[in-house]
Amino acid sequence: MFIDFHTHAFDDSIAERAVAKLEDTIIKSGFPNPLPSITRGTVKELLEIFDKSGVDAGVLLPIATKPNQQESINNWAAKIQSDKLYCFGTVHPEAEDWEAELERIKSLGLHGVKLHPDYQNFSAGEERLFPLYEKCAGLGLPVILHAGLDAVSMDIIHCTPEMGVEIIERVPSLTLIMAHLGGSECWDSVEEHLAGKNVYLDTALISGSLPQEQAYRIIKKHGAEKILFASDCPWHNPRFEIEFIESLPLTETEKELIFYKNAQRLLFNMY
Ligand SMILES: [Zn+2]
Repeated sequence: MFIDFHTHAFDDSIAERAVAKLEDTIIKSGFPNPLPSITRGTVKELLEIFDKSGVDAGVLLPIATKPNQQESINNWAAKIQSDKLYCFGTVHPEAEDWEAELERIKSLGLHGVKLHPDYQNFSAGEERLFPLYEKCAGLGLPVILHAGLDAVSMDIIHCTPEMGVEIIERVPSLTLIMAHLGGSECWDSVEEHLAGKNVYLDTALISGSLPQEQAYRIIKKHGAEKILFASDCPWHNPRFEIEFIESLPLTETEKELIFYKNAQRLLFNMY
């Protein structure tokens, strides 16, 4: 069984425009291994990719890039949820009503909150973010942070592995997921500072960027019970990350945790 913990899609009315714009940013950025999107951004295509890649279910992570988008995006996420697609919600840290919106996310039955520093104008270690982390912890909403390099901001890393360490030390009751195995292209800092800490790391977009030996060392140091299989589909095919994880000399028990059991624990309090 496979649950892909990091995927993206958009409402049909904006999907093509959103994907074209992101694709343009990624291709022009100089980001390592840029790939065109494998869908045109719709939920229907995402589910077709799951079917073709043997993925049983996915977690959709929408992002409000403007404060006034959060309510409509969360309503959309609640509407498209299914037993194939579990949705996180979104708040924009600059929205005056982020606190009330977090409560609404909880009551809508969404599974957590995605924050993207590079698209939401913040740095993950900024003081103004801590009340938001505290509120999510209080509501029992996991937070997934984009971590490491992003194509939209090639000069500054807005969420470093060290910031992840600071967040979890100051808000230990928060369920924190650091995307891209704790920090895209920050692999040495992940291995030194973040691996082994009380955070989840997702595997989105690591195949092709992170050497196998270092991926294995990070996973062993961190513990397979806190690693989540994820692809960042449509920016990678889930098969890439499945094959990459399969290629590592992990035990079957470790692979089961990574491929779906950790996800089930986070989504449904199983195990
Ligand atoms: Zn992503």
